[in-house]
Amino acid sequence: MGRHKMTKGICNICGIKTNLSYEHVPPKAAFNKNTKYVSIKFEDYIQSRNLMKEIPKGKTKQGGIGYNSFCEKCNNFFGANYVNAYVKWVNAGVQLLADSEFASCYFEIKNIEPLSILKQIISMFLAINDNSFSNDFKELSEFVINKESKILPEKFQIYTYLTRAERLRYMKYSAIGDLNTRQTVLCSEMAYPPFGYVLTIDSKINKKYLRNITEFKNYDFNENKDFIMSLAQLPTYTIYSLDYRSKDKLNNDIEKANNLMDNIDKFRKENS
Ligand SMILES: [Zn+2]
Repeated sequence: MGRHKMTKGICNICGIKTNLSYEHVPPKAAFNKNTKYVSIKFEDYIQSRNLMKEIPKGKTKQGGIGYNSFCEKCNNFFGANYVNAYVKWVNAGVQLLADSEFASCYFEIKNIEPLSILKQIISMFLAINDNSFSNDFKELSEFVINKESKILPEKFQIYTYLTRAERLRYMKYSAIGDLNTRQTVLCSEMAYPPFGYVLTIDSKINKKYLRNITEFKNYDFNENKDFIMSLAQLPTYTIYSLDYRSKDKLNNDIEKANNLMDNIDKFRKENS
């Protein structure tokens, strides 16, 4: 189509400085061919007073969501080795999606290739994150560029859930504070229907409804497997990692926060 330009840069996989091609995340064949989406600057997003009502303006883009993060060679390698397996997994997921915010589902998925699916998911995390991320965690690019490799150190854990992705989520690697456990989780997260994925690094996560699929690394390349799984369907109304608040809960929280801010303003004015 020629809509997506090449850019110059360093490939997040092989580290070579060259032309970077446009990598669809998720792959084009996983319902991301003609996606129309609004690209909002992160700064505008966090400044919005009520994200549910005043959605910040952004640029509308077409032709599928993606990133110029990989060279053509690495991009083609993923296309040739993992995308078919990934698309099959996505097609199964689409059939499981319920028309509600919270649901759980118990199902059997037949004949999938766990290792290729996991490698595709990790390649997507490498696409949405910066060079510094792939530099700091070289084990990730080594795992995906070698199709037979089962070497993914324990500090990396991958979780999944079903989602309609009310708001798409492409959150780069960052530290998220969990107010309940008072722990910090280092993670990156992606949500695009029908699946959401969380990649945690050196962090314990205290969310039972996220299904850990790191074990997918233990299968051979091209090995097919039937799985009986249960997955939760979670809403993603914000762009932030690990935020699965319902629409009502989010509206409530926003109202509370705004009231608090208004009271602080009032107090300041009265006392100035
Ligand atoms: Zn490359």
